[in-house]
Amino acid sequence: MSTRSIVRRVRGLPASDGAGVKLTRVIGQRALEMLDPFLMLDEFGSDSASDYVAGFPDHPHRGFETVTYMLDGRMRHRDNAGNEGLLESGSVQWMTAGRGIVHSEMPEQDHGLMRGFQLWVNLPAADKMGAPRYQDIAPEKIPMVEPAEGVHVRVVAGDVFGVSGPVNGVATQPVYLDIALQAGARISVPLPEEHNAFAYVFEGDAVSLGDEHLQRGELAVLSAGDSLELAAGENVARLLVVAGKPLKEPVAKYGPFVMNTPEQIVQAIQDYQSGNF
Ligand code: FE
Repeated sequence: MSTRSIVRRVRGLPASDGAGVKLTRVIGQRALEMLDPFLMLDEFGSDSASDYVAGFPDHPHRGFETVTYMLDGRMRHRDNAGNEGLLESGSVQWMTAGRGIVHSEMPEQDHGLMRGFQLWVNLPAADKMGAPRYQDIAPEKIPMVEPAEGVHVRVVAGDVFGVSGPVNGVATQPVYLDIALQAGARISVPLPEEHNAFAYVFEGDAVSLGDEHLQRGELAVLSAGDSLELAAGENVARLLVVAGKPLKEPVAKYGPFVMNTPEQIVQAIQDYQSGNF
């Protein structure tokens, strides 16, 4: 048995993406450029429409996966192959871009709260030019378990506490958990020992990880280990715990294209510009 501890702490930076959506970039910024296989983590959350209405008009992706977890709000997704879907509060879209898609992600609301996360997960070299795939998961398809008193876990991906998350067939064998802790609650979360993992507190108060404290808005990069000991303080807290198998492959990244070599990036730009996505 080995307990994971905090090896590094990172706070997100204010950023803007798409047509001017305000967000907080937690992974994919100078303080944490990536955490193999995770390339980016954005948190978005605002009840001011001007922060999000512009949305993310048509843009391409190649070579990785985008995972959108909507906590609050409605976002319409459309791509150049005719796929379309509505992401509602509590839903997840796990999109494998593979060799390429061009899509838009636009708010389907002009007021009220819009809140959630987008995580970018790298693909192994062998899968980067594979066919695009969508896993659109409705809120009720995400199991919620209560493994200990005052602990509620939504299992988006991974096998934990006797349930399996609905996301399947992902090369990096991800674990993606949304954990809500009531005051004083504690839990030991099993994680695959060699996966890279992080915890990010996004609601409520600080959480204890063993004998260390993680504040709201802080991401902890975790050491290797087969479990994570979490405890809430005097107040409620909610955090993401995400783990994935590191690919340990070279990364060539240019905007929405993530490949292994600079030549493959040039090819991606050419393919996109010539309409071959
Ligand atoms: Fe996108």
